Amino acid sequence: MLLTHSAQLFYDALLTLAYPQVCAICGGSVERRKFGVACEACWNRTRIFTGAETLCWKCGVPAIVEVAGAVREEVRCRRCDSQSFTAARAAGLYEGALRESVLLLKRQPHLSQHVETLLTATAMREPLNVSTRIVPVPLHPRRMRTRGFNQASIVAQVLSKSLRLPLDEKSLVRVSSSEKYRAGLDAKGRHDTVVGAFEVRHPKLVENEEVLLVDDVFTTGSTVSACAEALVAAGARNVFVLTIARASL
Ligand SMILES: [Zn+2]
Ligand SMILES: [Zn+2]
Repeated sequence: MLLTHSAQLFYDALLTLAYPQVCAICGGSVERRKFGVACEACWNRTRIFTGAETLCWKCGVPAIVEVAGAVREEVRCRRCDSQSFTAARAAGLYEGALRESVLLLKRQPHLSQHVETLLTATAMREPLNVSTRIVPVPLHPRRMRTRGFNQASIVAQVLSKSLRLPLDEKSLVRVSSSEKYRAGLDAKGRHDTVVGAFEVRHPKLVENEEVLLVDDVFTTGSTVSACAEALVAAGARNVFVLTIARASL
């Protein structure tokens, strides 16, 4: 169904009357269906990246000092030096409406229109905009059985449609079950548990590709780095990471 903007607003208003959606953060009502779990005011309080801010060019963590122009490409936090991806970006910080969107995606295999718009815009900005193929971070088979879906696959499916890029859910697989030991480990310990956890089953599919590796949230980066290591070893030219949200540190 194609609607004009005003018809869409009217349709949203009718739907809100019929199915009032409560904001997961403030308890107020969600004015537009496209906002998903949070109201407009709560979305406005969530820090979303616009492409104008200074980030570590590699891992995307917000920099302490703002710089302009081409110098931005030289900004590094240095903590991500050993990670195997080329660059990682998120739609915004893991807080407010983005945090609620990530949490909801663990329960429901659906992304709101607003999150889709933010992710698509992020993927179309440098340095992710050269991607040729979309690969979701695989979920452990045991968790797949209890949850019934992989939240990274939902994000990957949505992006594959909006960016018109091939979706590849076959190449990258999870091979070990070491993740259960992650709780309580520091970043180094976590890194060790995910190394060797991923394998590329169809190297021909990723050879010379600019892979857009997709997950719901970027915390230490150790999981996506382990995935990137396997993809690069299989011949991928670059691995770019895109997540809905990332930690602020
Ligand atoms: Zn709210
Ligand atoms: Zn960094």
